[in-house]
Amino acid sequence: MAKLFRTAIMGPPGSGKGTISKRIAQNFGLQYLSSGHFLREGIAANTDAGVLVKGYVERSMLVPDHLMSRLMLPRLEQLTGHSWLLDGFPRTIAQAKALNDICQMDLVISLNIPFETLRERGRDDVTGEPLIQHADDRPEALQARLRHYKDVAKPVMNLYKCLRQEKRITQQRRSSKQTAWFPVPRHPVPVLGYRHRPHLALHQLSSQH
Ligand code: AMP
Repeated sequence: MAKLFRTAIMGPPGSGKGTISKRIAQNFGLQYLSSGHFLREGIAANTDAGVLVKGYVERSMLVPDHLMSRLMLPRLEQLTGHSWLLDGFPRTIAQAKALNDICQMDLVISLNIPFETLRERGRDDVTGEPLIQHADDRPEALQARLRHYKDVAKPVMNLYKCLRQEKRITQQRRSSKQTAWFPVPRHPVPVLGYRHRPHLALHQLSSQH
């Protein structure tokens, strides 16, 4: 049986994390799990958890760690036989430690995007959805949100660096389009070699950018 592959992706607001995650998951045959999607699903269905998290999500504030762990960890525990990619979880050091208690990650991708590009980027070039959903998109406001992201994300990346599971992908060129720096999958079905050697293939792919 092929080795299971567990990966997560982190990126600042407007980095195109969702689009890139879906491409990676599709290319490498990984189950795609988005914490934002699960939260929005719970809110729409008006579940107990949905009611608790609604106020945070609507204001783009971090949902408390214990609620996030309660939302995400049971799902992952059920996926023992699957390879997966996490989009948006873990976001904090407490979440990363809780995740580490139940499984070992193979790779954590951190997207490093120039500030100018984040500022210029208004809409997702694939889905057309707004990337930055705040009414206040002045440069100072964006800068404050990025600072907050970095403050919270840094200890998480340091943890994965220590564990040698971290991979940083930097967008070198200034471009407002995500397609310019991360390829659209050429094969809608995962390529055989990738499926069996995702560690190698993902490192090769990511190091080209
Ligand atoms: P996303 O779709 O990843 O941008 O997440 C949408 C919103 O859900 C965020 O702005 C947060 O309010 C909340 N959220 C998603 N994932 C997490 C997480 N791991 N920890 C705390 N809040 C989260």
